[in-house]
Amino acid sequence: MDFDLVIKNGTVIDGTGRRRFHADLGLRGGKVAVVSASEPLSCTRTLDASRLAVAPGFIDFHSHSEWVAPLPDHDRVLAPLVLQGITTMVAGQCGFSPAPVTDETIPLVDHTSAMLRESAFPYRWRSVREFLDVLQSDGMMINTALLAGHAPVRYAVVGDSLEPPQPEQLEAMCRVLRKAIRDGAFGMSAGLGYTPGMFAQTEELLALLRVVAEEGAVYTVHNRTYRWATTFYEPMVGGVPHNIRAIREQLDLARRSSVRLQLSHLIFVGRNTWPTYQTALQEIDALADEGYDLAFDAFPYTYGNTTINVNLPKWYMADLKRNLDDPAELRRVEQEWDEQNALVGRDYSDIYLLWAGLPELADLDGLHFAAVAEQLNMRPAEAYVHVAKLSDGRARILQDTFSGDGSSEEPLQAVLSHPRCSFMLDTILTRGGKANPASYGTFPRLLGRYSRDLGLFTLEETVRRSTSYSAERLGLGDQIGRVAPGYWADLVLFDPDTVGDNTTLEQPDTPPSGIHTVLISGQVVAQGGQITTRARHGRVLRR
Ligand SMILES: [Zn+2]
Repeated sequence: MDFDLVIKNGTVIDGTGRRRFHADLGLRGGKVAVVSASEPLSCTRTLDASRLAVAPGFIDFHSHSEWVAPLPDHDRVLAPLVLQGITTMVAGQCGFSPAPVTDETIPLVDHTSAMLRESAFPYRWRSVREFLDVLQSDGMMINTALLAGHAPVRYAVVGDSLEPPQPEQLEAMCRVLRKAIRDGAFGMSAGLGYTPGMFAQTEELLALLRVVAEEGAVYTVHNRTYRWATTFYEPMVGGVPHNIRAIREQLDLARRSSVRLQLSHLIFVGRNTWPTYQTALQEIDALADEGYDLAFDAFPYTYGNTTINVNLPKWYMADLKRNLDDPAELRRVEQEWDEQNALVGRDYSDIYLLWAGLPELADLDGLHFAAVAEQLNMRPAEAYVHVAKLSDGRARILQDTFSGDGSSEEPLQAVLSHPRCSFMLDTILTRGGKANPASYGTFPRLLGRYSRDLGLFTLEETVRRSTSYSAERLGLGDQIGRVAPGYWADLVLFDPDTVGDNTTLEQPDTPPSGIHTVLISGQVVAQGGQITTRARHGRVLRR
């Protein structure tokens, strides 16, 4: 039998969770043609995988890189993903996606997503189908799947109004969403902690989720809050912790719509929120045990990147331009933050500025906001609002105390260990500023620190929840996420003894160890820590 390439003597971890086994793989036409555990395979081109694990390429369940994908040189920005073994990204998360758009909504979509996009690009598309067509004709470095964001769907009908849609407007939003899914989106994402998602009420979400459910697609959601107390809910203290209320809202929506629910980045923000993690996991399990289709995802760090405006209160965001110039409103925010931080259990030194995106602030990149304030000779809240304003909301930050910190990570380990947890990055890739360590280390860290060193889960289970489990939840089709005949040869060869991340907050952009070779569509794209080809072998995935 003729093969394009044979991978010899590898230890196959096939993505299903079953025990590893020794086999040769014969690749043909971009796919795995034969997995031979008994007979050695031969071919003029071979790759020796002795002492290496051969696994399906990793799936980043939660990506924001659809804002990098349309750039002509996206390869340079996305390279760290490939070098950690990622071959597929699921983009369009947290309520934002670059499609569908109309001539009228492009400025809105572009502005609210400006914090995610690496640099400006022309909108060479309107519909989801056209967006995917553009990516396909440009060529993609890695496989790309898209969700339709709630924000562009909402903008398409009500523009920048923050009022609930009228019944006929809601029907129109449902039509826009249905078309986006039929155009190839794998579902809808919502970002209820951001504008405009934070203004979406139950009726609006329920109507849209019924469309997602009817189409058999997936709903991913960034909850209204991840903190036990916020000004978002009343009463501010007492009663059910607010992050639990926010989870219950989503569980209730899943129950009422029967949608397949994915709670995005299940984190517990602030030291005083950590004790709520057991309740959260119990309530998720209870609904799943009733037969509802729900799960969640997480990254293996106690810190995550987001955008600077995320900490601005809802009332402040509702009239942002005016409030940013008003010293009285600044004092009000400052007071609110002081109360919040004390309640939640964190302070300004737990929030790092990764990238202000401005040459005049470049010296501040990488500092936490207590230090930023010192440098600017301002109070911390003042410095924070100052950077938010100057960067027009585009600055990237890294927040610590997500389910743990440097000294404790019990909630994080419980979340990662849960069998319903898919692994992902949730990173924002840009050329400028300090990187989020997740961009470089996520999957190696799961394989090294959490599986091999701490023994939280087996290597097979780590691979399963990095591959086939995510593919199945997303409905990526039956040819992604496993090492098996007929599946795409998206593969990562790694050394189980040495695989690991090397990132620190100070040196976030350090490459991982032990990732030997990465293949996409049967082609070697990275080897020995280097990208080995300029050709793009990624596939644009359509539902
Ligand atoms: Zn999010």
